Amino acid sequence: LTGLYNKEAFYHKVRQQLHTEPEKAQSIIYANIDDFKLVNDLFGRKTGDTVLIKTAEYLTDLCGTEGICARINADKFAVCLAKQHFSEDSLNSIAEKLSTVIQKSAKPLCIRFGVYHIEDPQVTVSVMAGYAKRALKTIKGDTVKRIAYYDNTFLVQKQREQRIMATFDGALNDRQFKIFLQPQISANGEVQGAEVLVRWIHPEQGLIPPGEFIDTLEKTGLISRLDKNVWEQAAELLRQWQGTEKDGLYLSINLSAKDFYYLDVYETITQLAERYGIAPQKLRLEITESVLMSDVEKLMDITQRLHERGFYIEIDDFGKGYSSLSMLKDIDVDVLKIDMEFLNETEHEEKSRIILESIIEMSKRLGMAVITEGVETQAQTELLQNIGCTMFQGYYFAKPMPVQEFERKYFVQGA
Ligand code: C2E
Ligand code: CA
Ligand code: CA
Repeated sequence: LTGLYNKEAFYHKVRQQLHTEPEKAQSIIYANIDDFKLVNDLFGRKTGDTVLIKTAEYLTDLCGTEGICARINADKFAVCLAKQHFSEDSLNSIAEKLSTVIQKSAKPLCIRFGVYHIEDPQVTVSVMAGYAKRALKTIKGDTVKRIAYYDNTFLVQKQREQRIMATFDGALNDRQFKIFLQPQISANGEVQGAEVLVRWIHPEQGLIPPGEFIDTLEKTGLISRLDKNVWEQAAELLRQWQGTEKDGLYLSINLSAKDFYYLDVYETITQLAERYGIAPQKLRLEITESVLMSDVEKLMDITQRLHERGFYIEIDDFGKGYSSLSMLKDIDVDVLKIDMEFLNETEHEEKSRIILESIIEMSKRLGMAVITEGVETQAQTELLQNIGCTMFQGYYFAKPMPVQEFERKYFVQGA
């Protein structure tokens, strides 16, 4: 269709080129058209073909006499070019030209480029193309960026992930994962409970915040083993508090989507509460709406059963991602947790305030409580109080802290 090399020929040609001119710096560019399948569906194959042919034409121009250009498959192209001939301008101008190929389309066609400036010519060409492709992936769906570069932060990231995975088991056995507590405060300033947030207390690196390892553990499913451990620490603490002045407090634990695949969440939670003799209302379950959206029926069912058993279901980060209002009618949610970040976009302050106020009104009418988290200032607290919020969590009140510090701060010693 396009007269370009196919994937195998491209790999072969590039290898030859690198071999004949090993001194010359070269770049690999991987290009992909957004939603190309839609073009075929909406405008027909013929238009789709035109787009591919045009793309091939522009890329061929870019290559000049020395570059190598290929269609890898469907709407994916690859180019090998002398680095000195590479420029963002030339890629942007291709994108400009291509955006007008289909004139009747409401949304202009968008082509994106991943770029790998070859550092190690010994690496196989398919791996190099993989680097460029990986760079491209980082800007998928981005509204602004059309060009992304591969750099060794990818490699550093990979190594970091591997280190986490390799040391996780040992760290878990060594009890290096500790729970921290951040108080949840009512309008009259009293602590009602706390969110349980994990910290990795590493023997050499010191305190590692969850942002640095949760993602990696989620990718591999290891998160379920960490969460089980964290939940157990929370249950143990609740048992310790029984019969003391802390008896009235609840703890909110975090559940990750992956937990539902690797664990029988219902069994795990109910057994934990039974084993430690904890009333279900003392253990609140924070679940993000994306969890409930991922495998709706199964997860909703489990969540609903936990609710019926008496555990409080809290929707974490409500309104941040896909707001799934319909979900609220299908399961009984006890608490909506809204992140203050939602309100911090000063440009839209008035609108944000109206939305927040309406969420609070709605939740009241649906019989749900609301907690606002990420509260950092007195002004925010006052604003929230004015629109009817009665529960708060955030740095303004306290940062997450070790259990002992929490107990010292909020309770008389030895009580
Ligand atoms: P999250 O569940 O949304 O937790 C709230 C995060 O906001 C916490 O970050 C908390 O320290 C932070 N925060 C609290 N108050 C404020 C404030 O006033 N301003 C700002 N800017 N931030 C505030 P942290 O502890 O770093 O945890 C990050 C995320 O890691 C959590 O977000 C949660 O998604 C995840 N996570 C933490 N512990 C666990 C766990 O045991 N299991 C699982 N699955 N995820 C966890
Ligand atoms: Ca949370
Ligand atoms: Ca949150």
